Amino acid sequence: MFSTSDSSYLSRNEWYITYEEIRTTFDWEIIGYSSEERPLLYKKLGNGPRSICIWAGMHGNETTGIFIVLSLIDLFQKKQIDLTGFTLHILPVVNPDAYVRYSRRNGLGIDLNRDFRAFQTIESAKLIGWIKMHEPELCFNLHDQRTIFHVEGSPAYTSLLVPSADKSRSVTPSRKATMARVSGALDTMNVDLTGVGRYTDEFYPTAIGDYLMANGYPNVLIESGVAVDDFSRLTARVFGLNVLLHTIHGTSESTSSTYDNLPLNESGMLEWVFTNVLYAHMRVDVAIKRIQYVNGHATGVLYVVDDLGDLASRPRMKEVDGTAIGLTQPLLLDKPVTGIFGEYLFEEGQLINQG
Ligand SMILES: [Zn+2]
Repeated sequence: MFSTSDSSYLSRNEWYITYEEIRTTFDWEIIGYSSEERPLLYKKLGNGPRSICIWAGMHGNETTGIFIVLSLIDLFQKKQIDLTGFTLHILPVVNPDAYVRYSRRNGLGIDLNRDFRAFQTIESAKLIGWIKMHEPELCFNLHDQRTIFHVEGSPAYTSLLVPSADKSRSVTPSRKATMARVSGALDTMNVDLTGVGRYTDEFYPTAIGDYLMANGYPNVLIESGVAVDDFSRLTARVFGLNVLLHTIHGTSESTSSTYDNLPLNESGMLEWVFTNVLYAHMRVDVAIKRIQYVNGHATGVLYVVDDLGDLASRPRMKEVDGTAIGLTQPLLLDKPVTGIFGEYLFEEGQLINQG
């Protein structure tokens, strides 16, 4: 098991590094160009007969998978990862035009993960051609999930999915074998799985994982999320790297059903909830969430009002007694927050002080 101390890509606290930094940190091959002519970077690790394809950054505002693959390359180059028997084919940023904007959609405004039937974007067509060329026995598709997801009340810091190959979500032999391989991996990792969930296996015919399953390419989706007070998603980086490596080295002969027994993740989680806030002569709950943004090379966080009223039935990452709150402005939904929230002082959506 690797931990945060093993690679700077697992430990550094930024949740975004520039595309320029990614390009210049390692020696990459270039396999093509995006619609705005940014290079599509590629790296090959190992030279064994068993082929594995891994990609991240299909959505440009989902960066944890990129840190996972950079740490993988880093650790392999430091000879801390044994890939005997395997060749790993890696695309760190499938959608660089979206990455430089920190947006979901590509330069033309198309969501790549809804384009794996029509292949109307250069990036999705390139990705599929690249995968088929390498004839992988297994693929890893790395994404980030929103903070609304939780597993039985705990923030879902990682959700896994072996996608469906058809509308009826049947467990085909290939899907079953992949589930077994992930189950065995989770067993050998021997860690507490609180906060690890299963992503819904509803069939999305235009998403890449479902398309690949339907066409005979087994794959695992790793959705990285936040743990409590871990908005840089370091817990998910470490877990994601370890589950990926253990699954590569795992066997589909495993009879374990640990993957199948993971609880399904659910939505509805709030980030910070302040209770007992005096607002218009009433005591209400106020939920505040973070919006991360990238402006050129600068990153920032904006705190906005997510919801208010009676939020007692909603799970939350953190609860703070807001009795001491001094509001200086009305609370407007989705707008930057201003006020003294107990020990937290917000001004125009900036967290000035945290007690
Ligand atoms: Zn995504």
